[in-house]
Order: sequence, then C-alpha cells, then structure tokens
Amino acid sequence: MRIDLHTHTTASDGTDSPAGLIEAAASAGLDVVAITDHDSAAGWPSAVAAVRQMRAAGRPAPTLVPGIEVSCERAGRSVHLLGYLLDPAHPPLVAELTRARDSRATRLERMVARLAEGGIPITYAAVLAHVPPGATPGRPHIADALVAAGVVAHRDEAFARWLHDASPYYVTHYAPDPARAVELVLAAGGVPVLAHPFSAGRSASQLSDALVAELAAVGLVGLEVEHPDHDPAAAARARSLAAGLGLLATGASDYHGTGKTVGLGARVTDPGVWQAIRERGRGSGELA
Ligand code: AMP
Ligand code: ZN
Ligand code: FE
Ligand code: FE
Repeated sequence: MRIDLHTHTTASDGTDSPAGLIEAAASAGLDVVAITDHDSAAGWPSAVAAVRQMRAAGRPAPTLVPGIEVSCERAGRSVHLLGYLLDPAHPPLVAELTRARDSRATRLERMVARLAEGGIPITYAAVLAHVPPGATPGRPHIADALVAAGVVAHRDEAFARWLHDASPYYVTHYAPDPARAVELVLAAGGVPVLAHPFSAGRSASQLSDALVAELAAVGLVGLEVEHPDHDPAAAARARSLAAGLGLLATGASDYHGTGKTVGLGARVTDPGVWQAIRERGRGSGELA
C-alpha cells in the first residue's frame, strides 16, 4: 500500500487539475491519495468524478481522501493544518476559509504593487491570468507570472529572490490561529494533522514543541513526520514528539505538480496510520 496524504491541484497552487492529479496518482502507483488544497475543498468534486470514471472504465483508481490544508498564523509565524474527511459545508469552517481566501486576493494585489514599485516588471492583471478559475490565490501564482514574463526561470527562483517570507515585498494575509483551526476541523467531523512542523527553507515553519503540545491538548490527531522539507533530524524530532504526545505520524509528498520538483509518493504514510485516520473521520467528506 502506497499512501500519500498531502497534495495540491489547480484548486490552489498546484499545476495538475484535480482529475489530472488522480491520473498522476494512478501512474505513480499510489493506492491512496489525499487532495489537500490550501484553504479550499473546491477540487473535490472533479477528483471524485475522475475516480468514478476510471473505475467505470475498468481501470484501477486510487482511493481519494478529501482534505484541505488550512493556512494558520501564530505570532507572525505561518502554521499549516491538514484536515481530512471533514464536512466541506460546515458553516463556521466555510466562513473562516472564505475570509482567508478573500484576504489572500487583496494580499496578492498588495504584493504585486510592492514588487512593481521596486522595479520588478509585473502587473496584477498578469498574475490573475495565472490563477485558475476558483483557485485559492497564492504567491506561487505571482511566481508563475514572473516565469511567463521571462523574469525568472522557475518558481523556486522567484521565491528565493522576492517572494520568501522575509522579503520586503512579502505581505501577510488573514489566517486563523492554529488552535481555532484544530477546533474547526474537529467540529466539521474531520481529522486534524499538523503539516511539516519543522520544515526548513521553503515552508519554513520551525514550530516549537510547546505549540505542538498545545494543539495536541485541543484535539490534534496527527503530525506530518515524513515530508520533503524535513531533513532526517527534523523527521526524527517530529517522530519522537508525536510518540510522546500520542499523535499519529504521517508522511506525504506535498506534491504541487510541476510547481515543485518533488514527485507523488516521495514520502508515504504507514497503512496502519491511514486506517486510524480513516476510522476517526466523521465528516460528510467521504472517501471515493
Ligand atoms: P502562500 O500560501 O501564498 O503564502 O504561498 C505559500 C506556498 O508557496 C506554499 O504552498 C509553498 O509550497 C509554496 N512555496 C514556498 N516556497 C516555494 C518555492 N521556493 N518554490 C515553489 N513554491 C514554494
Ligand atoms: Zn502550496
Ligand atoms: Fe504547507
Ligand atoms: Fe501543502
């Protein structure tokens, strides 16, 4: 069993459509794949349809786990919370995600204004042309516009030069506190798992053990231990913290299509851990 519980599609800042993700997961030999777009469940229906079509055509399709990755913030630091098998229509959750997505749009516009003032040739219209319809807008879409304009070679270069968290062009967006997000995911019947707690570089979270313990106390279920941005020391630290707090230890690729070099299944989750997550999901977001 190959199980990858963290991927992105064109419903946020991945480059595969939800249906394309299902095809890619089948090609990669995955048995289970979760779709976890930033602050959105918009990709679920077409991913479910793709799974059903494959099965109807007699082709083996991976089990699809509906999920989201909620952007949170605590004391100026970005915290990402995965939520699986939740009810995507739970009103308080929908309200919070809508607020976050709306704030992301104005934030992107402000970042573009700063970049343009800094002499970087970019317009908000050019960026919007790279945000797929209905997608959660994010910095990678600014990067895509810069790549298309020939200003940088790839997303990584755009982040390294101008889009990283410490950049003078960086602007934050509204994001809930992670303890509140854990409560919301639970209230929506979902299973909350803290993403890449100790990643270096791109998703630089480097959370404190105390924050993880605090989230465990309000109902966090799992910790993403194996992740491409965790070096062996970070993964070992996450694994022992999970064991100490009684959290499930997951592994996943955080695939973004061609937006990152990491492939589907680059990190995987243990079948027993997946089974435990599945048993805890009570939301109406059902497995396909
Ligand atoms: P945002 O959600 O708009 O703050 O942007 C964060 C997103 O950018 C996350 O999904 C990251 O995976 C992605 N990201 C961060 N650093 C890089 C990078 N160096 N190259 C490509 N994507 C990145
Ligand atoms: Zn992303
Ligand atoms: Fe993340
Ligand atoms: Fe992610």
